[in-house]
Amino acid sequence: MRGKKPANKHRAWAEINLVHLKHNLLELKSVLPLDCNIMGVVKADAYGHGSIQVARYLNKAGVRHFAVAECSEGVTLRKQGIKGEILVLGYTSPRCYRDLIRYNLTQTIISADYGESINEYGRKIKVHIKIDTGMRRLGESNGNMEQICCMYRHTNLQVTGTYSHLSVPDSHQQDDISYTLAQINRFYEVIGQLKSEGINPGTLHIQSSYGILNYPDIHCGLARPGIALYGLTCNEEDKINTRVCLRPVLSLKAKITLVKTIKAENSVGYGRNYVTTQDSKIATVSIGYADGVPRALFEKGGYVLVRGKKAKIAGNICMDQMMIDVTSIDGVQEGDTVTLIGQDGEEWITTGHVASLCGTITNEILSRIGNRVERVYIV
Ligand SMILES: *Cc1c(COP(=O)(O)O)cnc(C)c1O
Repeated sequence: MRGKKPANKHRAWAEINLVHLKHNLLELKSVLPLDCNIMGVVKADAYGHGSIQVARYLNKAGVRHFAVAECSEGVTLRKQGIKGEILVLGYTSPRCYRDLIRYNLTQTIISADYGESINEYGRKIKVHIKIDTGMRRLGESNGNMEQICCMYRHTNLQVTGTYSHLSVPDSHQQDDISYTLAQINRFYEVIGQLKSEGINPGTLHIQSSYGILNYPDIHCGLARPGIALYGLTCNEEDKINTRVCLRPVLSLKAKITLVKTIKAENSVGYGRNYVTTQDSKIATVSIGYADGVPRALFEKGGYVLVRGKKAKIAGNICMDQMMIDVTSIDGVQEGDTVTLIGQDGEEWITTGHVASLCGTITNEILSRIGNRVERVYIV
């Protein structure tokens, strides 16, 4: 790997490779129509990658649109000097409307009633209007054309965009493909009707990562990738319709703090769930479930990498530490780096592998990496 080695003072750290982030950005752009821009989704601390650094880097790489889940995430970005449009995807409480204005954030109008509430605040607020075409989470239902038109006529809503969200763009099952195509059709039907009413819907967007990867030809002004920007698909085995080569941005690492020699038939850790079958070397590692290592990983047969070799997790993962069995690895000592996600020599543990062992998706593994984990940026 190119770039600086991380300063070795951290207990647990995530290496964030910004060169890979840029690569993924360009790959995604390459499959989209030329005039479709990227809205970088940096909610949940940029899926654990650090929203400020990620947004700052994307800003430098020419990205002018960002999406966050809640207003306070947008405020944080603005305070750090992030330029361009910042769209709040979720609900914002009336108590925070003043922050929308003060920090020049764009709010999603999640229903016709919500549009009225924002309008009644009495000051101009930038908004994107969300249409529910079948996700049934946020947005005014596509059938309620009268209410939808009303949303655009409020004098205090400065509408700069209209969007929707797809439920199953990752699926290649025929009924799911039909569902996605129906959602896209409903979206454009609404847009057509708005235009026939003389209403300008602003910039359109409907694709998240899988929308881009599987339906790259939809012609919108923006696309909203999250997980793909970070170089991953939700499930490792997912097939996609485009030829993009994504590079994982994040690696998760910690250190060996102590190595113990333990006789056969002795237990390790809480619950005495790991019992040595031979005289063993057990190493304590400075990362735990509060740092985002799923506690289930032990019983699911998880392992880590040390000195380029696999080491089994030995016993229940603790809040801030875990133990691993390094009996078969030569020369393991205090201060050695342990890789929980990423590459060490010839071996590689992907986020997708950890996710599938734990019965979840990569998004969850990444976004749960704890605050205490130092983020180390590689540029
Ligand atoms: C989180 C989110 C995205 C990004 O989703 P990915 O699958 O990670 O690309 C896009 N749009 C909305 C509305 C979201 O909530």
